[in-house]
Amino acid sequence: MSELRRHIDVAVIGAGVLGLAATDALARRGAEVVCFEGRRPGQGQSGGLTRTFRNRHDDEDVVRLVADSLALWRDWEKRCGRTLVGSEGTAYLGFGESDAAGLDTHGIAHRWVEGELAPEVFGPLRPVSGRLLVDPDSGAIRSRRTIEALTSWVGDRIVSEEVHGVCDPGDGGGVELQTADAIYRARHVLICAGAATPRLAAGVGIDIPLEAALHARPHFRVRDEHASGPLPCWVDRSGEFGPMVYGSPIGTTGRYVIGMIGKGVDVPMDGGLPPGTEMEEHVRRLSRYVERALPGLHPEPVGIRVCSMTKLPAGSDAIGVWHTDGVTAVTGHNLFKMAPVLGELLADGAQENRLAGILARCTDRATQAA
Ligand SMILES: Cc1cc2nc3c(=O)[nH]c(=O)nc-3n(C[C@H](O)[C@H](O)[C@H](O)COP(=O)(O)OP(=O)(O)OC[C@H]3O[C@@H](n4cnc5c(N)ncnc54)[C@H](O)[C@@H]3O)c2cc1C
Repeated sequence: MSELRRHIDVAVIGAGVLGLAATDALARRGAEVVCFEGRRPGQGQSGGLTRTFRNRHDDEDVVRLVADSLALWRDWEKRCGRTLVGSEGTAYLGFGESDAAGLDTHGIAHRWVEGELAPEVFGPLRPVSGRLLVDPDSGAIRSRRTIEALTSWVGDRIVSEEVHGVCDPGDGGGVELQTADAIYRARHVLICAGAATPRLAAGVGIDIPLEAALHARPHFRVRDEHASGPLPCWVDRSGEFGPMVYGSPIGTTGRYVIGMIGKGVDVPMDGGLPPGTEMEEHVRRLSRYVERALPGLHPEPVGIRVCSMTKLPAGSDAIGVWHTDGVTAVTGHNLFKMAPVLGELLADGAQENRLAGILARCTDRATQAA
């Protein structure tokens, strides 16, 4: 039996942005690491062209993780010679002084702008009644470019095999992984499998309260007169124009993506397929939002991405990392921006078989209902 087993030091399951970042960080530390991916790298929640990198979060530990990530994003940019996080900035509507507490604590630049000056900060936006919070050291993540860069750095450490299960045989010989082609034993397994993380982690007794849902992100053309900006990322939880939304420019394509935030705006994936009409209604609501709030965009959507997304009980921006002897499992929501720092922390944790204190604190809060 033992000759059927293949031994590896660290196995990473999943080649989304987190699995790739952790594999790259482990490889740079000289570790023997294999990254298992059942589909193509970056085809899960990390798919698509753009994500928002913003500094403001409710959880001050998350603010710290994001701030630490920015320096690492700049290192990645030097390595690949391309922009990965743009300098568009982020504007927020519907926020007060206390919402900027994390920015104050960590010395992150920000300013307030009166609502009638909104178009000076965000060209397509009409004047608004509240103040805008502006977070200048942020912008749109070039997500596909990021996945391409990481995939090239990780190279043939990616193995095209789906992992069926993970278990601890309890014989001191490492953690077992089964794929269609082999049975592996690894000293440490890092589960970065997105929506599949809870199922795989359950094999070693880790219980993760993750919900999966479908989310609609239509994109809209920027009117010519606003094409040269300013086009920051956008978070509006004021309710002034209807739904609460987030938005982001798609690089320099002249398109802008918008999605809804808040409770009940995603379609739960509880086994059956959601009715298509429900998704279409989401798109209509976002079109109406554009008409009311963003006259600098054409209100007819020119494309859509319907994607699966995961959330822990604390909701948006909650990150959870669970650790048991020989296994670490990570999941949550809005993790793309934190991928560089999470890659480093997960790599250290896999090498030393431990969980960083900041991740343990985030996990405690992530599992408390919002
Ligand atoms: C619509 C949308 C908008 C978002 N907006 C933002 C944003 O603005 N800012 C931000 O920071 N984040 C954002 N996010 C979240 C961010 O994209 C995700 O948190 C991040 O991409 C998760 O990466 P991951 O590597 O954990 O998971 P994934 O990208 O899902 O990767 C998991 C990988 O594991 C593989 N896998 C699964 N099971 C197995 C198995 N058994 N064997 C082998 N491989 C397996 C999958 O094929 C997949 O490739 C958004 C997400 C969505 C969907």
